[in-house]
Amino acid sequence: MTLIHHWIAGRSHAGQSGRRGPVYNPATAEQIAELEYADEATVDAAVACARQAFPAWRATSLSRRVEILFRIRELISSHRQELAAIITRENGKVPSDALGEIARGLENVEVACGIPQILKGQFSEQVATGVDVYSIRQPLGVVAGITPFNFPAMVPMWIFANAIAAGNTVVLKPSEKDPGAAMYIAELLAEAGLPAGVFNVINGDRAAVDRLLVHPAIEAVSFVGSTPVARSIYERGTAAGKRVQALGGAKNHMVVLPDAEIDGAADAAISAAFGSAGERCMAVSVVVAVGVVADALVAAMAERMARLRVGPGTDPRAQMGPLITPQHRDKVAGYLSGAEREGAKIVVDGRRTQLPGRGFFLGVSLLDHVTPDMSSYRDEIFGPVLGVVRVGSYDDALDLVNRNPYGNGTAIFTRDGGAARRFQYDVLAGMVGINVPIPVPVAYYSFGGWKASLFGDQHIYGPEGALFFTHGKVVTSRWPDPATSRIDLGFPQTR
Ligand code: NAD
Repeated sequence: MTLIHHWIAGRSHAGQSGRRGPVYNPATAEQIAELEYADEATVDAAVACARQAFPAWRATSLSRRVEILFRIRELISSHRQELAAIITRENGKVPSDALGEIARGLENVEVACGIPQILKGQFSEQVATGVDVYSIRQPLGVVAGITPFNFPAMVPMWIFANAIAAGNTVVLKPSEKDPGAAMYIAELLAEAGLPAGVFNVINGDRAAVDRLLVHPAIEAVSFVGSTPVARSIYERGTAAGKRVQALGGAKNHMVVLPDAEIDGAADAAISAAFGSAGERCMAVSVVVAVGVVADALVAAMAERMARLRVGPGTDPRAQMGPLITPQHRDKVAGYLSGAEREGAKIVVDGRRTQLPGRGFFLGVSLLDHVTPDMSSYRDEIFGPVLGVVRVGSYDDALDLVNRNPYGNGTAIFTRDGGAARRFQYDVLAGMVGINVPIPVPVAYYSFGGWKASLFGDQHIYGPEGALFFTHGKVVTSRWPDPATSRIDLGFPQTR
């Protein structure tokens, strides 16, 4: 059985906590590794190492940092198949999903290669006689990233690319459910020439996070995970005086207006609801069918779902893999019984799908006539269950989306540009798709939700990510004109 340690000072680091947990292959239900869980001493060792590495990394020229980032980009790209295999083995998502997450993550490294442009300050000459004012941005120091299981490579890249490019050093705490991707990335970063201590990985659970949140040398915490944990991380981290951005869960609505093209909307809903088994914070989990579109749309989605193939990532024909744990699979299945009791109609029942023998599989499900009081509507299910809420008008649809406590992503499907523009203006969510079901911004914009989907004021990655990982400093300088100075510097006395 493989034993996974931590990554500190550019190499594997065995902790002494004595606490360990299993890592499973969700497609086979086999335990494939044993993971060390960090205690306070291990966290302190990683932070001390990152702290020691900070002054030299901060002083490393922008050109040299960029050179290393380009190499990181090349190495992750050329090892994407190995990285994808690790993701599939520990997380369960099929290879196309794993490769997709790597590609979207790499965008962030590519953007970070342009950090000199991003960090450029402003300059105002002669604001008073002999006085200039200019702004610069400087790294914070040691920053922490705490990441979820569902994107074990992409979310770490959202965080570390900007953080290290801006001159910080990083301690990452990946999900204990699938830590292999972060550990592999750490090796690639070292191979790319990133100095030891600039990027460290500590494995484990809440105990490690609790220490990071109060460690005096941690300047900032970038968290991505579920809403209750995000809220708590934000509260505890800011109470300890740290800069915190904490991205939480979601309930993403896709509004389909009566004029929408049904086949296109059904294709979009199915891929957005069931990609990565619905374990995506930007997954569409509610289709809001407006007016007459409902019957045809439900039929078109059900027809597509019947053709969707569920299986392990080793099956090249599989389009959707298993869920992350048996407990999570059972919890998701429990929403189906709940929905039935509460009066929803189960159009497609994933519990009845023929599934591979072992592994944490569940088929795809479609619930119709879902109402806002049902638990399947209220909760983030985070699995392959898509609910349809039928409403009478655009205003009803908007009201539903805006009343929802989450505000991560949302989408509208319509052929009417005016209606789409109005939705973009009215809707209370951080990311909006117009005929695009999963509007994850490209890496030169920033990603983030509103309401209970984000605690903090800066979105993650892109320009706001660079701001998050830097302090602003404004310099006001006065230099007397040498022509009038009392020391003769050899300038002609012209004034
Ligand atoms: P999670 O909140 O359970 O765990 C996230 C991280 O926090 C992990 O590293 C975990 O070890 C740690 N953690 C868990 N419980 C903790 C506690 N009580 N105290 C301190 N740390 C704790 O989330 P998850 O199940 O790994 O991921 C799924 C969730 O993440 C979903 O809710 C999903 O919507 C959300 N998510 C959000 C985004 C986004 O960008 N908004 C992106 C991906 C995932």
